[in-house]
Amino acid sequence: MSRELSAVVVGGGIGGLAAAAALGRSGVRVTVLERGDGRREPGAGLSLSPNAYRALEALGVAEEVERARRSRRRPSSVPTAGR
Ligand SMILES: Cc1cc2nc3c(=O)[nH]c(=O)nc-3n(C[C@H](O)[C@H](O)[C@H](O)COP(=O)(O)OP(=O)(O)OC[C@H]3O[C@@H](n4cnc5c(N)ncnc54)[C@H](O)[C@@H]3O)c2cc1C
Repeated sequence: MSRELSAVVVGGGIGGLAAAAALGRSGVRVTVLERGDGRREPGAGLSLSPNAYRALEALGVAEEVERARRSRRRPSSVPTAGR
């Protein structure tokens, strides 16, 4: 009999969301608890170093991040040497 694994990740920053995505891809049922209400406007660009971009690729979300970047009206940082 197999048991479903579950995990609770406290904090929905990039660290918590990356952990949740990795656990989810491994079949773990994840709940993310975030104390913020999500209404704060970040207001800053984000530079991705090559290793950060590779981590996004490994998590299977790099294309989605790239799509989001392209859809922004204002120019934003580009994952330059991300491959
Ligand atoms: C102005 C600025 C610009 C930056 N630019 C870059 C950049 O270009 N490139 C880059 O790589 N890094 C950049 N950084 C750094 C980057 O933002 C941090 O390294 C990264 O966000 C850390 O992620 P984290 O998930 O560890 O923590 P956080 O982003 O701090 O996330 C932690 C989350 O946990 C939540 N939380 C905490 N305690 C609890 C609790 N008890 N219960 C529930 N939720 C909780 C918080 O509300 C928060 O949302 C920048 C930082 C700043 C301030």
